[in-house]
Amino acid sequence: MRTHRLELDDQTLREWDAAVLAADAEGIVLDRSAFYPGGGGQPPDHGVLLWGGVQTRIVGARKGDDLYLLPAEGDPLPPIGTSVRGALEDERRTALMRTHSGLHILCGVVYRDFGALVTGGNMEPLSARMDFNLPELPEGFRDTVEAAINSEVAADRRIDVRVLPRDEAFALPDIIRTATNLVPPEVKDVRVVDIVGLDQQADGGTHVASTAQVGRLQITKIENKGKGFRRIRIQLPD
Ligand SMILES: [Zn+2]
Repeated sequence: MRTHRLELDDQTLREWDAAVLAADAEGIVLDRSAFYPGGGGQPPDHGVLLWGGVQTRIVGARKGDDLYLLPAEGDPLPPIGTSVRGALEDERRTALMRTHSGLHILCGVVYRDFGALVTGGNMEPLSARMDFNLPELPEGFRDTVEAAINSEVAADRRIDVRVLPRDEAFALPDIIRTATNLVPPEVKDVRVVDIVGLDQQADGGTHVASTAQVGRLQITKIENKGKGFRRIRIQLPD
């Protein structure tokens, strides 16, 4: 992959300069991009490329041999070699960062207090679901968990991101919080998202800098998906 992924180093970056390496029916490839391309349950960023008084709206991304940004239908493609200014749709990205960090808080609390592993998850801006291997639901589970996740928000824990060599990362206790290890064996460096004192996960997503930035969390629904799987739905109402 030729694109330098700026968002992995700086999750607050919203605008940057880049050059076009390819632009065709596959999509647009930049040398540097902060567009999160999607993955780990977090959908891709939206935004624009600005060049020579022209605007190309970006409405998705696809990972193949390269990281392809997908333009809105009918928008012009910048020719190869063009210098562009990239800009993310801040409202969507910031909402997704808060939502993603909120899911990690949920994951950390349910593991710490109930020992349950995650089996899947997905998110939209300000709402999300996560599936847990949780055969029995204790009395008052919903209210207990909702109180616990909001007290983690109030505690304003730092959320650190660091990249560790594979061996070092996997030596951390409970680092793989999903029931199966999803990190492919060829991955040498592992990005770790650490809600300090609560939850450490191998994760490629974008996160806010502290739990207070997530804001209030509500559990909207708990569904029984059979075979001991429970789906917890959350939203960020503020
Ligand atoms: Zn995650």
